[in-house]
Amino acid sequence: MKILVVDDDRFIREIISAVIVDAGHTPITAGRDEEALPILAEGGIDLMLTDVEMPGLNGFELTREVRRRFPDDWFPIIFLSGQCDEKHYEEGIDAGGDDYLTKPVSPIVLKAKILAMERIANMKKALDAANSRLEKLSTQDPLTKISNRRDLENNLLKEWKRSKRKTTELAVIMLDIDFFKPYNDNYGHQQGDECLKAVAKLLKQCLHRSHDLLARYGGEEFVIVLPDTTADGAAEVAAKIISELQNANLPHAHSSVAAHVTVSMGISSTLSNAETPTSLLKQADEALYKAKENGRNRSEFYLPEQ
Ligand SMILES: [Mg+2]
Repeated sequence: MKILVVDDDRFIREIISAVIVDAGHTPITAGRDEEALPILAEGGIDLMLTDVEMPGLNGFELTREVRRRFPDDWFPIIFLSGQCDEKHYEEGIDAGGDDYLTKPVSPIVLKAKILAMERIANMKKALDAANSRLEKLSTQDPLTKISNRRDLENNLLKEWKRSKRKTTELAVIMLDIDFFKPYNDNYGHQQGDECLKAVAKLLKQCLHRSHDLLARYGGEEFVIVLPDTTADGAAEVAAKIISELQNANLPHAHSSVAAHVTVSMGISSTLSNAETPTSLLKQADEALYKAKENGRNRSEFYLPEQ
């Protein structure tokens, strides 16, 4: 653990640091609040030991400040104080601290407290990691590892609002794999899954900006959200997808449009006056239908008069 020791007495800082090193951890020292806060702002501190009686903010005030400034970056705080009455103890815990040690500090007790706090800090880390894994799982399509429909809807709404605020154009492409049912019927569902994965990977490679979003919409349907992009810009992305699929040449012997896996795409943008993100997707879906009717392996724009 990286352990921050805050005490205005250099001698005490050195003794405590020696105990920390002996316990196998890394001490970082600060003489008062002004030195401690910038260190804490950098992050990565796993435990703080702080003196109570100090110039500037005292240990309780410093703790309150730390909890206020870094609400999402919780780590245990232990007070070191010459005073040991109940009132003091209560005030320390109330300020956001987790334990209290009286000076002179016994190295054995300090090591035991560090160990106890390390357990708590590790549990917190494991909990944070589990939460971020869950967060990721809830937004990811398990097969293709790209965004799922739920993540698409959240992001599309966000980008929709942003485009309205900044008056920029937002384009979407809805696409699906041509003759995917005959593909599954002839190659089997396992191969069908492999095909979906390969197409998702290829689509991802055709997107270069970090805020472009690719999502699996359902079955063999995908949606691409392109912020700050015109319908013509989206058509360029569509053309790239068609040519990359041709290069990839994933065999499809049961397609009547080509010998390889192809897609049809419908494009719509906020310039076509959709009133909601849902209607923008609906427009792209209508354009996709047109691309299917016009022979597949192509993209079509949504045109309001159609
Ligand atoms: Mg002091």
